[in-house]
Amino acid sequence: MSRPPVSYYRATVPELPPRPQARGAVQAEVCIVGGGFAGLNTALGLAERGVRGVVLLEAAQVGHGASGRNGGFVFGGFSRGEAALLHDLGETHARRLYAGTTSAIATIRRRIEGYGIDCDRMDAGVLWANWFRDPGVLRSRQALMAEHFGADWQWVPEGELRGMLHTSRYSDALFEPGALHFHPLKYVRGIAAAAESQGVVLHEGSPATSLERCGSGWRVRTPDATLDARHVVLACGGYLAGLCDRVDDSVLPIATYVMATEPLGDRLREAMSTNAAVYDTRFAFDYYRPLPDTRLLWGGRVSIRERSPAAVARLLYRDLMKVFPRLAGVRVDYAWSGLMSYARHEMPQVGRIDEGLWLAQAFGGHGVAPTTLAGELLAGAIAEGDESWRDFSEYGLVSALKPFGHAGAQLAYWWYQARDAWKDWRERATSR
Ligand SMILES: Cc1cc2nc3c(=O)[nH]c(=O)nc-3n(C[C@H](O)[C@H](O)[C@H](O)COP(=O)(O)OP(=O)(O)OC[C@H]3O[C@@H](n4cnc5c(N)ncnc54)[C@H](O)[C@@H]3O)c2cc1C
Repeated sequence: MSRPPVSYYRATVPELPPRPQARGAVQAEVCIVGGGFAGLNTALGLAERGVRGVVLLEAAQVGHGASGRNGGFVFGGFSRGEAALLHDLGETHARRLYAGTTSAIATIRRRIEGYGIDCDRMDAGVLWANWFRDPGVLRSRQALMAEHFGADWQWVPEGELRGMLHTSRYSDALFEPGALHFHPLKYVRGIAAAAESQGVVLHEGSPATSLERCGSGWRVRTPDATLDARHVVLACGGYLAGLCDRVDDSVLPIATYVMATEPLGDRLREAMSTNAAVYDTRFAFDYYRPLPDTRLLWGGRVSIRERSPAAVARLLYRDLMKVFPRLAGVRVDYAWSGLMSYARHEMPQVGRIDEGLWLAQAFGGHGVAPTTLAGELLAGAIAEGDESWRDFSEYGLVSALKPFGHAGAQLAYWWYQARDAWKDWRERATSR
């Protein structure tokens, strides 16, 4: 298989000249480190609240990390499931956190419209398709979402699902109607431009190399600049800033993979007659969605290492064939990987970790809406002294136990994958 050059997302946006690097001595009110969704949402939230003197440092270019490479699913909730949230926090608190992510989806819609961000938005919801025959998993999640989170997820019976996804792979599904999907790199660029138009200064090619206390504020250095700021926000995801050991030690960078097929024309409708994005009920699930030019974007798997585009394409093509064998022979035009950041507790780490030092990281594989929520909470805290970020206090900095955490994460993945394969085999054997 030929080596796909760049991600589909990179290939479908114009090359932009890099923004200027940070240089010299700079005074700022807020210095944000990291130009992914977490950093940019904080910057934009601050600008929308009228805060001036906001400077953002990005080591590469905005959207270089997970935010510019992800599956593009914009849906409610966190990497940690809702049942676990309920167990950890009780109903009122868990419901408030979950509601934060659905109002984040509303914020995303408002920003797309208000700032005129052209990001191939498909307002078609998300299907959670049942890989197994057992309907209990869907029914109990549907009931839990309705009863404790006020969310109306619709059950899609097998016959109806077959009319949407032309495969015998799934039995039934749950439909999350409020969700959407989009081109994440176009959206990243859109919110970066919106922040800039309101006075935020963005520097690219400007890695922060050190962080130290300086009077009542903080000093951040890059290779060519020294920034003094009253507040610093660390938002570096799985690409670890290397500025503060206890921050980096508390997350595991975990890779996941994505590919995009050639444009399929009418063949796309042989596979799916819905514009919804789809993921399935396995621990190691596939996730996919139709693209506006009739390609199929397909993602899945997690690993402790990034792989070459050719290896990613090979692995994911095999996964695609398990669901849509009728697409045999389709060409894979793009394949890539990206790093997610996971905390042991699978929840984002959001809030103040020292006087004037703020953190937004560990969004895992479920970060588009939660990074928007985090940006709003941190902007509200810095601009207005709002303390709502404390809703995340239960999920603080806990050691990710590296390097054992990495081995543990890989072992857990294999174990859950084997458990799912066993369940699948048993169901098929008993239905013969
Ligand atoms: C392949 C893939 C698919 C995914 N699919 C989905 C999905 O469909 N839906 C969903 O909700 N979530 C998804 N996620 C998760 C989601 O993309 C992330 O949770 C989210 O983008 C994290 O944003 P972030 O800003 O924390 O990190 P990132 O986007 O990774 O940004 C961190 C940035 O910090 C910069 N940086 C690092 N160190 C420094 C430094 N020292 N100085 C300056 N800059 C620095 C990096 O260059 C990078 O640009 C996916 C993730 C991946 C990898």
